[in-house]
Amino acid sequence: MTITAEVDAAVVGSARRIADEVAAPVAEEVDREARFPAEAVAALREERALSALVPVELGGAGASLDAVAGACFELGRRCGASGMVFAMHQIQVACMVNHRGEGSWFDDYLREVVAEQRLIASITSEVGTGGDMGKSIAAVSEPDAAGTASFEKQAPTVSYGPHADAFLTTVRRAPDAEPGDQVAVLTRREQMEMDQQGTWDPLGMRGTCSPGFVAKATFPVEQIVPERFSTISAETMTPVSHVLWSQVWLGIATDAFDRARAFVKAAAKRKPGEPLPAAIRLSELMSQLSLLRAEVGLALREYCELHANDRARLSEMATILRFNNLKIAASEQAPTVCQEALGVCGIVGYKNDTPFSVGRHLRDSMSARLMVANERIHATDASLLLIAKEV
Ligand SMILES: Cc1cc2nc3c(=O)[nH]c(=O)nc-3n(C[C@H](O)[C@H](O)[C@H](O)COP(=O)(O)OP(=O)(O)OC[C@H]3O[C@@H](n4cnc5c(N)ncnc54)[C@H](O)[C@@H]3O)c2cc1C
Repeated sequence: MTITAEVDAAVVGSARRIADEVAAPVAEEVDREARFPAEAVAALREERALSALVPVELGGAGASLDAVAGACFELGRRCGASGMVFAMHQIQVACMVNHRGEGSWFDDYLREVVAEQRLIASITSEVGTGGDMGKSIAAVSEPDAAGTASFEKQAPTVSYGPHADAFLTTVRRAPDAEPGDQVAVLTRREQMEMDQQGTWDPLGMRGTCSPGFVAKATFPVEQIVPERFSTISAETMTPVSHVLWSQVWLGIATDAFDRARAFVKAAAKRKPGEPLPAAIRLSELMSQLSLLRAEVGLALREYCELHANDRARLSEMATILRFNNLKIAASEQAPTVCQEALGVCGIVGYKNDTPFSVGRHLRDSMSARLMVANERIHATDASLLLIAKEV
């Protein structure tokens, strides 16, 4: 085994262990109480998994996105909220790793992520622009003589906002910049005033703890990621979000399928030799899950291949369409699988306190289509399809 393969296997292996031994036993409680999955995140910190993607030269594990995707799947399979928190953190790290510029402030910050296992949240959505990540209302102020700037952003949803150590926020480059002329700023909690707006009592993904905030920050301008946000978004934030979120949704759907299978096996044991209509439904469910698994797996391989060998193609229309399609397909297919699993299990799947319960899975997976509304993505794709030469 090469060193990279060993590192990757360790990342996936430790995530699987944490998912089984730490996240699963409290998943119901995390969901019921809409509380942060603190145990799972502490265990991930202990395994230094929060810096898995940080390159070796900065002290990190230098794991591949493939391995981090595998970890998202394993965590999502046992606790959707733990999987999503881990995925969202890794997306922020990937943006900094890929777009930090040589020898910038971000090299030191990523060393700090390694040493302190900092948890990083994202503030891209904004009251007034909704899920349109490509536009901002909030702007970076003119820096003062000491190079200190500030922003204030009305954020409708900040996952693990109350628990994060730092935030990657999108804002306009300057007070007079166009809505699409954006930058991403990394600010530490100590540099921010986070005024929580309302509560977090949603249908699903309850453990992500994602209320709204008015986020105010004051920071040295070197904490602005050097590359334009449009490039960060095209090459990393959007495709990596779609790839890692989909892995979490696949994990949730896989566990719903596993519960349906356990139900059918138990029923077959009780009535050996009798026809079992639920077994046919289970077989149909498996083909639905296979479609999801194929799409999510293929997209991951395609992203890794493009990122390693042909990064410029990530900004091409055909590639944008491809990873938008992944998001739409996976976010629609995962709840379908969970709903069909409910159909297989019947009332014991509907109840929240049986080994075959899939209510949490269904509710968690229903958030998928809202995490940047599918209709919004369809609108972008519709325009691209009219002008793209190849798709
Ligand atoms: C569990 C979860 C965690 C999240 N965590 C974070 C986070 O940590 N940080 C963060 O920044 N964001 C996060 N978000 C995303 C954020 O909450 C939403 O994407 C954002 O607030 C948009 O909200 P919206 O759906 O009301 O807005 P919109 O995107 O404006 O959508 C509103 C409605 O308009 C429709 N619509 C929008 N555009 C079109 C169109 N072109 N054509 C037709 N219909 C359209 C939509 O379908 C929807 O019905 C999270 C979301 C979820 C579900």
